[in-house]
Amino acid sequence: MTAGLEALLPDLRAVYEDLHAHPELSFQERRTAGIVAGRLRDQGWDVTEGVGVTGVVGVLRSGEGPTVLLRADMDGLPVKEETGLPYASHVTAVTEQGETVPVMHACGHDVHVTCLLGATALLAANRQSWRGTVVAVFQPAEEVGGAPAMIEDGFLDRFPRADVCLGQHVAPVPVGFAGTRHGTVMVASDSLHVRLFGSGGHGSAPETTVDPVVMAAAIVMRLQTVVSREVSATQLAVVTVGSLQAGTKENIIPDTAELRINIRSATPAVREKVLTAVKRIIRAEADASGAPREPLVTDLPNFPVTVNDPDATDKVLAAMARVVGPERAFTLPGPLTGSEDFGTFGSALGVPSVFWHFGGLDPAGFAGFRPADLVDQGLPSGVPGNHSPRFAPLAGPALDTGVRLLLGAAAEWLTPPGN
Ligand SMILES: [Zn+2]
Ligand SMILES: [Zn+2]
Repeated sequence: MTAGLEALLPDLRAVYEDLHAHPELSFQERRTAGIVAGRLRDQGWDVTEGVGVTGVVGVLRSGEGPTVLLRADMDGLPVKEETGLPYASHVTAVTEQGETVPVMHACGHDVHVTCLLGATALLAANRQSWRGTVVAVFQPAEEVGGAPAMIEDGFLDRFPRADVCLGQHVAPVPVGFAGTRHGTVMVASDSLHVRLFGSGGHGSAPETTVDPVVMAAAIVMRLQTVVSREVSATQLAVVTVGSLQAGTKENIIPDTAELRINIRSATPAVREKVLTAVKRIIRAEADASGAPREPLVTDLPNFPVTVNDPDATDKVLAAMARVVGPERAFTLPGPLTGSEDFGTFGSALGVPSVFWHFGGLDPAGFAGFRPADLVDQGLPSGVPGNHSPRFAPLAGPALDTGVRLLLGAAAEWLTPPGN
């Protein structure tokens, strides 16, 4: 199935650099979707556009056989690029809230789109070498949960039902490595927006006010005790307050303060425990401050746990060992604390799914790299990972590996008997 990949790589490289220079925010991926749809049509795929706002779905059949869903996500992030690459993004966009922000493919979704376009080109060109149906899903808005939007747009009824869902993510490990694990591979993510109510006044007379800044500060500090004091040391959980906003001026005590909180957990029990504790602390600290009103807590987009089917994972790991070599294919010792909405497809369809990570960075920054260190110790210091303004995948080799992994994994289901 990989016949012709070498000749295709310069073209994929050009597609990648173009997508990288023109990132689009979640649910605004119109240019990207247009490029994807045009290329799929040229390759001979049946194409449907506008699935879940900007999603694109391609279907290609080659006789009787299993149906495999391959998924790539398309959105960029509101990050100002600092890679200094010749094809770096200088793009800005307007958010849903009307704010103009810089945009960058800081999570590498441009790598995913290009790899899947490479795989679809070769699946079409080498149709005689496989049997079955492939559904290529170019999903919008992974960063805010675009998969549910595609499901709500009738995805399950409009396209052939997959027997397995496969997806991949470029990771801050040396290019040429790839890994995954059985069971939970990415954790759940829950986010909350909290509005705290105080009672403002002059900065010189705090006794006449209820200061929401102090209330917010107390909440931020006490939230750090949830993981350290309420969750067992053997369980995984993260609580981060990523945004705290209040006030306009040093001598005015404001009326309100706002927090944005992100919570990660790997099991339903821990998830419930942490969410309950976070909400309890918010209410109690507001009460302790004498707040005139209960805080308003609203849910922001959340992501389920990403769970890999054991049998399907065995197949993907076998494919991975063939593609990158057994010494570079690894099984993660534990789940990563990132989150994904890829699992939505497998759970909505009720079929197995597998999500894996592959290296995208220059091996020069990783002397003595051992994949297990990633989970034990995190990234080596100074290596810019996903969401960093300096995240810069080594395009050529990363695209080559990503295309081979998609085709290698798909072949585990699509190869006709006797081939
Ligand atoms: Zn991301
Ligand atoms: Zn991502």
